[in-house]
Amino acid sequence: MPADDAPPEFRLAARARVPGAEAMQDPFGRAIRYLRISVTDRCDLRCVYCMSEHMVFLPKPQVLTIEELDRVSTAFVSLGVRKLRLTGGEPLVRRGFMELVQRLSRHLDSGALDELTLTTNGTQLARFAADLARNGVRRINVSLDTLDPDTFRAVTRGGDLAQVIAGIDAAQAAGLKVKINAVALARDNRADLPALLAWAHGRGCDLTLIETMPMGEVDEDRTDQYVSLTDLRADMAAVWTLDPLDEDSGGPARYFRVAETGGKLGLITPMSHNFCDTCNRVRLTCTGTLHTCLGQDDATDLRAVMRAAPEDDAALVEAIRGAIAAKPKGHDFRIGRGEGPAVARHMSTTGG
Ligand code: SAM
Ligand code: SF4
Repeated sequence: MPADDAPPEFRLAARARVPGAEAMQDPFGRAIRYLRISVTDRCDLRCVYCMSEHMVFLPKPQVLTIEELDRVSTAFVSLGVRKLRLTGGEPLVRRGFMELVQRLSRHLDSGALDELTLTTNGTQLARFAADLARNGVRRINVSLDTLDPDTFRAVTRGGDLAQVIAGIDAAQAAGLKVKINAVALARDNRADLPALLAWAHGRGCDLTLIETMPMGEVDEDRTDQYVSLTDLRADMAAVWTLDPLDEDSGGPARYFRVAETGGKLGLITPMSHNFCDTCNRVRLTCTGTLHTCLGQDDATDLRAVMRAAPEDDAALVEAIRGAIAAKPKGHDFRIGRGEGPAVARHMSTTGG
């Protein structure tokens, strides 16, 4: 055991080392086992549905330091969270990101955490894939909306498709299991999604298609790019045989086995179907604000709590417990023409 004068993160780590800490329960009896953390609001791409072209990023002092990210993650692990997903913005452009992964991997070693994973745009994977695998990351999600270099450049406002493909190659070579996430866009990629499935499944990657969500102001009217996943399911079913899988990840996805490829297809339907009943997750922004529901404006400022008591986690643990005790029952997205976003936060700040 660490000495009493050990830094707080190590004292918490010692508590977190008890595998199977009891899960926090929200008022609706849902056990909270999953935390997504945005480690930065910055990104090297500017996807049209996610960011405006000239994003103004947060001043650095507002963003949690690597030490604070470790401290708050560790507090959640001590409270029974068993899965951490690091996201952003683009997590791999965050300075010190690999140090954070390395620190958090101690919870995998201790058995307190089942999974440490990330969602990335893949541009930096060629550099970091081997380090991720070395530090206990086993699976990652890579966002890729199209295999057409020109469409990719347009959707991401300047991205290089070849760089992302090289990143996926490197991840697979390092032994990481890769899932591809694609946002369905009526104009830009809808017609190409069956081919994206063939490509992904052909290289052993499952594919999840995501509806556009009304998150934060971006430059376009997003409603004219919206495709319901009911329609997408029909598009995919016209080409592939979809056998529904009876799987519940505790998340919003519905899964199918594609008979011809043997791979999995996920459809994420945040607006057209209710998935809140089994929600086991909460989100932390890069500024340390805890949101217990993606579709509501509830917020708890954990950064203020941490900075007020740098040496003592009692208030932090109390604030987390208090937020979970008030987790809303469900969300309320709207995407009507002319309406602003239902929730003013950008996906890049909340973490997708
Ligand atoms: N930069 C990383 C990436 O692109 O994977 C991680 C952060 S990104 C915000 C996480 C996920 O959110 C990506 O799969 C992205 O496509 C998705 N996303 C961003 N804005 C969205 C929106 N308005 N509607 C639906 N999905 C969105
Ligand atoms: Fe960056 Fe990911 Fe948002 Fe695209 S979706 S702009 S890659 S944070």
